[in-house]
Amino acid sequence: MEFRNLIGGEWTMGDDTRPNVNPSDVSDIVGQAAQAGLTDLDQAIAAASGAAPAWSASTPQQRFDVLDFIGTEILARKDELGRLLSREEGKTLPEGIGEAARAGQIFKFFAGEALRISGDVLASVRPGVGIDVTRSPVGVVGLITPWNFPIAIPAWKIAPALAFGNAVVLKPAELVPGCAHALAEIIARSGLPAGVFNLVLGPGSILGPGLVADDRVKAISFTGSVPTGRGIAADCGRHLKKLQLEMGGKNPMVVLDDADLDLAVEASLNGAFFSTGQRCTASSRLIVTEGIHDRFVAALSDRMAALNVGHALETGVQMGPVVDERQLAQNLEYIDIARKEGGMVTGGARLERKTQGFFMAPALVTETTADMRINREEVFGPVANVMRVKTYEDALAAANDTAFGLSSGICTTSLKHATHFKAHAEAGMVMVNLPTAGVDYHVPFGGTKGSSFGAREQGRYAAEFYTTVKTGYTLA
Ligand code: NDP
Repeated sequence: MEFRNLIGGEWTMGDDTRPNVNPSDVSDIVGQAAQAGLTDLDQAIAAASGAAPAWSASTPQQRFDVLDFIGTEILARKDELGRLLSREEGKTLPEGIGEAARAGQIFKFFAGEALRISGDVLASVRPGVGIDVTRSPVGVVGLITPWNFPIAIPAWKIAPALAFGNAVVLKPAELVPGCAHALAEIIARSGLPAGVFNLVLGPGSILGPGLVADDRVKAISFTGSVPTGRGIAADCGRHLKKLQLEMGGKNPMVVLDDADLDLAVEASLNGAFFSTGQRCTASSRLIVTEGIHDRFVAALSDRMAALNVGHALETGVQMGPVVDERQLAQNLEYIDIARKEGGMVTGGARLERKTQGFFMAPALVTETTADMRINREEVFGPVANVMRVKTYEDALAAANDTAFGLSSGICTTSLKHATHFKAHAEAGMVMVNLPTAGVDYHVPFGGTKGSSFGAREQGRYAAEFYTTVKTGYTLA
C-alpha cells in the first residue's frame, strides 16, 4: 500500500518513501509513505492559493454537500478506517472505530455550520448609517497535526476550514500517514474542486517551518508538543500570521473523601490509561484527599493489574502499545526519574507479547509531591501519579499548580465543591464525576495557560479562527 501526497488534485510520491510500522507488530509494514520535500510543499501551497478564491465564493449548499459526503462515507466505513487507525497508531480496535466515527460526526456537524454562517446588523451611532459585520474566509490555512488522534484531529481542523471557505494544506505526523491518506482519498472524491485540499506527507522539521514561513499561508493551526508549538508561535509572530495552538497537558483528577469510590476509580482508569495514556487530556495527576486515599489506590491498582495489554487488533485487549520505541523509552525514563525522586512505582514494566511491539504495563506512581518532574512535565504515556492532600482547598491548589491548563476533573458528591471547582479550576475544560479525557464534538475544545494559544477549536467557536471579520458601514 502506498500513501501519497495530494497536490492540486494529483497523487504524488515526492522524493522518497518511508515505511509505516505497526506498533503492535513491527514486522507488519502498514504501507510506504511518500516523503514530500520543499518543492512539493511549494506546489501544494500554490495549488491551494490558486483554488482559494473560487472556493471562498462557493455557496453554503456546495460546502454542505462536500462536507456531508465526507462525513457520510467516513461513518459508513468506520470499521475499516478504525482498523487502519488501530493498526498504524496502536489504540485498541473499539477506540479506533470510535475515533473514525467521531471524524464522520465532525464533518456532519460542520456541513451544518456551512449553512449557518452569520453576521450582525447594527445601527450606527451616526444618523442614516447602517452597519453590518460579516465573516470572510482567512484564505490558505496550514494544518499541522499529531499522531495520537490521526483521523479526529485532522477532521476537526479540515472540516471547519472548508466549511468557512478556506483552502487547506495538511501536514500530518510522520507516524500516521495511512489515516491522512485515507481521509484525503475520500475528500478527493467529495466534489471539492482540485487544489482546495492538499496533503503533504514528510518530515515536520522541514515541511513545518516551510509552511509557517510562506506568506501565501494566512493561518496555522497546530496540535502537538509544547516545544514545537512554541517554535511555531515565534515564527508566526515574525510573519504576523494568525495562529492556533493546542499543546500538552498535566491534567489533574481530584478525588475527594465523599466521592463514589467505584466511579472515581473508573474515571481515573479511563482518563489515565485508555488510548495508552497518549491523550493531551489524560488524567496524569490524581490528587486524592487522605480519607479515601488508601482505598482509592488499592482499588485502582487492582483494576490496572487486570487490564489486558496487547496487540491493538486483538479482541479483548483494553490497552494497546505505545506508539513507537522513542515514546516508550521516554515513558520508561520518566518512571525511572520518578523512582529516583522518591515515588513508589506499581507497574510500568516493558512487556513481551506474541508479536514484537512497544508494550508496557500501565504505571501508577504514589507518594509523589508537586515539585517532582513527573508532576510537572507531560509524559504522554500510561503513567499516572498520585498526590495525597488533606483538604478540598489543598486539592484545588495542587490541581492549579501547573504550567498547563487543558482539562481538570473532580470526583465528589458535594454540590458545593463541584460548583466551586468548576469556577476555580484553571483549565479550558472542567469535568465533574467524568474522566478528564473524552469530549463532545459540538462544543469548544482547548485550554488555558501553557496548553493552548489562540481561538478555541470545534463547535460554533471554530468560526473565530477560520474566518476574519469585516465591518461594513453604509449611508443609505
Ligand atoms: P511534535 O510536536 O514534534 O509533532 C506534532 C506535529 O508537528 C507533527 O505533524 C510533526 O511532524 C510536526 N512538526 C515537527 N517539527 C516541526 C517543526 N519544527 N515545525 C512545524 N511542525 C513540526 O510531537 P511528536 O510527535 O514528536 O511527539 C513528541 C511529544 O509531543 C510527545 O511525547 C508528547 O509529549 C507531545 N505530544 C502532544 C500531543 C498533544 O495532543 N498535546 C500530540 C502528540 C505529541 P513529524 O511527525 O513529521 O515530526
